[in-house]
Amino acid sequence: MKIGVIGLGYVGLTTALTFAKLGFKVYGNDKDKDKLEKLKKGICPIYEPGLDELLAEMLEKNQIEFLEDITETIRISDVIFICVGTPTNPDGSPDLSQVEEVSKIIAENLNGYKLIVEKSTVPVQTAQWIKRTIKLYSNEDANFDVASNPEFLREGSALYDTFNPDRIVIGVENERAKEILLKIYEKINAPKIITDVNTAEIIKHASNAFLAMKISFINMVADLCEKTGADIKKVAEGMGYDKRIGREFLNAGIGYGGYCFPKDVKAFYYIGKSYGLDFSLLEAVERINNSRIDRVMEKLKNALWNLKNKKIAIWGLSFKPNTDDIREAPSIKIVKKLLEEGSIVSAYDPKAIENFKKLFPNIIYGKDKYEVLENANALLIITEWDEFKNVDFEKIKKLMRTHIIVDGRNIFECEEVLKYKFEYYPIGRSCY
Ligand code: NAD
Repeated sequence: MKIGVIGLGYVGLTTALTFAKLGFKVYGNDKDKDKLEKLKKGICPIYEPGLDELLAEMLEKNQIEFLEDITETIRISDVIFICVGTPTNPDGSPDLSQVEEVSKIIAENLNGYKLIVEKSTVPVQTAQWIKRTIKLYSNEDANFDVASNPEFLREGSALYDTFNPDRIVIGVENERAKEILLKIYEKINAPKIITDVNTAEIIKHASNAFLAMKISFINMVADLCEKTGADIKKVAEGMGYDKRIGREFLNAGIGYGGYCFPKDVKAFYYIGKSYGLDFSLLEAVERINNSRIDRVMEKLKNALWNLKNKKIAIWGLSFKPNTDDIREAPSIKIVKKLLEEGSIVSAYDPKAIENFKKLFPNIIYGKDKYEVLENANALLIITEWDEFKNVDFEKIKKLMRTHIIVDGRNIFECEEVLKYKFEYYPIGRSCY
């Protein structure tokens, strides 16, 4: 079985390399020529743990080929995974034009039976639209099925997640499509949920919306803890032991970001609303998340009085640890606000500086976490990279002008920071 993967971003590239490692011959295509050139040379265009090595191994073994011509990719493949982007339109609706574009090209190049699998996150009934598009643009006797196989990987542990998923969701319309997808995932040990395509599509959107809701819920409770002197870390621990709730995604902080949660919450809300349903719960999820930025700015102002001409050192720019991805990262909104206030921003991130420089070429970037602290009035922690958790507080103290830490991810304990006489402002708990 030959597998074609169209769209080689975080999901497509990880998926393509996973299938190659599972022993299938994989053909990858992307319309970004620079990306393809890099991939052909064995250079991974994104940072994702383990991906570099797997790319080299699969190229070496000739298990994967990167093709510039999308029509060749389609014609050569038995199964085609659509992994293109599904961004948000200005009105909050999902922009499915990339999926449509690929569907049309598939239609025009069908040569025998193909299984077309949507892996991109899409609204319910998108598979029906893909099917209709292919029928409209192909010959009457076109022989194909469309299936939904949503992806649940997390950036930062994408490869681990594709080999060790919590579940694999397979949305199909018939036995043939089901058997093909089961064959592809045969060697992955995970529960396989077989559904119709609409159900599979909803599973993905509902999962992401639910996780985002958990984050906004705990952030809402964190606000109450701050007002009342309670401790959100203990509250989360106390809640998390309840198996019905679970401890995951109960970390209060600066809120969610990234390519998925913000757009998927918006899309799911939009879909519910378009069917006349009350999905206002998700409106609140988004509102609470957006207000995190103001809460952090408030903490800085409460500590520093005026932000004008104050040097703010930032640790962490990526939307989460272990990735270079800054799409919809809280850091973008925070840096924008700091610059509007007239602050001097110096920032460090282990992997995301190059991406951030494209948006903010004129702020100061440090080569390590200590360099950015020189003469800083405050340290603001935005992303909880491991390297920020073990630090030399004596050294930090010597470097900074005034000793204030605003910890947007609750990575330190009050006692350890107060010992060095810092002013420490975490989220949802007070040290004083
Ligand atoms: P991405 O932007 O990193 O990758 C998309 C790729 O598709 C880009 O490289 C782009 O050049 C390519 N592309 C667009 N149109 C094309 C076309 N016509 N032909 C060929 N290539 C084309 O996006 P991503 O993060 O990989 O996400 C892709 C999809 O997977 C989205 O729907 C997203 O919601 C979903 N998803 C993402 C994650 C994640 O953590 N990033 C997790 C699960 C699901």
